[in-house]
Amino acid sequence: MNNSSLITVMLLAFTINSCGFERSPDTNKKEDSLTTKNKKSLVNLNEGANMDNPVVKSEEEWKKELTPEQYRVLREKGTERPFTGKFDEFFEHGTYYCAACGNSLFESETKYNSGCGWPAFAHAIENKRVKLQTDKSHGMIRTEVLCTRCDSHLGHVFDDGPKPTGQRYCINSISLDFKKKKK
Ligand SMILES: [Zn+2]
Repeated sequence: MNNSSLITVMLLAFTINSCGFERSPDTNKKEDSLTTKNKKSLVNLNEGANMDNPVVKSEEEWKKELTPEQYRVLREKGTERPFTGKFDEFFEHGTYYCAACGNSLFESETKYNSGCGWPAFAHAIENKRVKLQTDKSHGMIRTEVLCTRCDSHLGHVFDDGPKPTGQRYCINSISLDFKKKKK
């Protein structure tokens, strides 16, 4: 390893925050102008959505349907800035859905405040609703969480969560839609 690549690795290490997500200063400006209030309402929340009716779309189609920031996170495996997502400090009772395809993913009962800057869940509604795969990007080995139905990137899962599952599904707000529970 020569000196410049060593410096690159060191700089990269410093950009990784304690929650294991990358911080990319280059994208911060863009995110400021794309607040969640501009988020397109694009999904018919589909509680029956499952893996028997997968959603397969071309990247061109996704680009048309999603906002640029949604596309960056959901389809290009980006990460929203910590403490900026609309569901980080949000504890209404209801269900969280994939913002790309409407697959129901998480219940509010399993959501907790991890202090990490992103919504955290102890587990998915059913294991089969999310797909886990190894992510070796940014010099780390993490477990990526994807929507099983449409293959969109949701976030990562870590094993430092509270009992009994011990899991922390650290999910981008922008990857989620929420529907409040009827009283
Ligand atoms: Zn989906």
